[in-house]
Parts: sequence; C-alpha cells; structure tokens
Amino acid sequence: MLAVNTMETVACPDCDLLQHLPELPPGGKARCPRCGWVVATRTVDPLDRPLALTITALIALILANTAPLMGLSAVGRYASTTIVGGAYDMWVQGQEVTAVIVAFCAVIAPAGYILFMLTVLLAVRRPPAPQWVGEMLRWADSMRPWSMNEVMMLGILVALVKIAELATVDPGVGLYAVGALVVLFPAIMVTFDPHEVWKRVEWADNEATTEEPA
Ligand SMILES: [Zn+2]
Repeated sequence: MLAVNTMETVACPDCDLLQHLPELPPGGKARCPRCGWVVATRTVDPLDRPLALTITALIALILANTAPLMGLSAVGRYASTTIVGGAYDMWVQGQEVTAVIVAFCAVIAPAGYILFMLTVLLAVRRPPAPQWVGEMLRWADSMRPWSMNEVMMLGILVALVKIAELATVDPGVGLYAVGALVVLFPAIMVTFDPHEVWKRVEWADNEATTEEPA
C-alpha cells in the first residue's frame, strides 16, 4: 500500500536521474539537481480553491438546468426550453437514444462529477479522511470525460444561429450558466491536486498517517 510519510522516489522525465522528493510547501516546485527540470509541483491552496470553484459550478449547473437556454418568438408565439426539457422533447418525438445521450452528457455526468468532487473536497478538510473518499475520487474521475459542456455549448450556438434566421432568439440565463460551466470545469481540474487527497486518506493498514501534524 501507499507509504505516506516516506519520501517519494521519482525519475527525472528529462535525464532519468532517480531522486527523493522532499515534502513541498504549497506553491513549491522541486527541480532535478542535474538538469533543472521541474519534477514536482504543489499547487497553492490545493483544496480550498477547487472547493470554491466546485460550489460555483454547482450553482451554475442548477441554473443551466432550470433556467431557459433560449427563448424563441415567431409569428406572435413564444416558446422557451431547458436542457432537460429538450431531452424530454426528443424522447417524446421518438429519438430515445439521442435523448439519453444528451441527458447523460449534459446533466447526469456533470452533476455526478460536481457532487463527487464536492463530497471529496468537504470530507478531506478534516484529516484523516475516511477511506471511501478515495473511491469517490475514482468515481469523479470516471464521470469527468463524459461531462461535455463545451460540446453542448457549441451545439446550442449552432442551433441558435440557424434558428435566428427563422425566429427572434433571446439567449436565456441557462445559456450563460452553460458558458460558465465550460470555464469552471477546467478551472477545477487545474487547481485540484489529487495527491493532496490521497495523502489525507486514512488507510486501514497504515497508522502512520494519523500522527501527521494538522
Ligand atoms: Zn534531470
């Protein structure tokens, strides 16, 4: 199992020199003593910043799924739709497969990723973190490739341009919320350091972690 308190041994990706990594301070970098290649970095604030971004993403996701994406008005009629509403309409019109794919990639996977990340980030705040946190982190990882906010955003914009020739289109709050999600997801991934979580997970066969200073 993972030995937490011993120093990690890595090989330099550039010159293959084997070296022990010291405990890095937040925002610190470790360079290879022979060639100067950065062999390890530790992000500043690896838990609080992604937590703040994840909470923002949760709000954006709720808005994206409840507020109308766009409103259409043509010949005196007005209609608006949400993502879930769109998927439901597709299902009713006999396009069940597309409806399920849209619902999964635009609603279920992003919601799953955000909820798993939120649980992980809240649970590791008070070390030692319980062992199920590791399992949750794996689930969040498996949800991530299926959250296709940017693909959906592109699809919506293409549809918008096409419909704009036929009807008056008002971009809704939901559309801006989807746009925010497109930026927030990569921001969570960049600021989040999974190492920080694994370090805090309490393993059943390793009591050494409990004596780590808080
Ligand atoms: Zn090197």
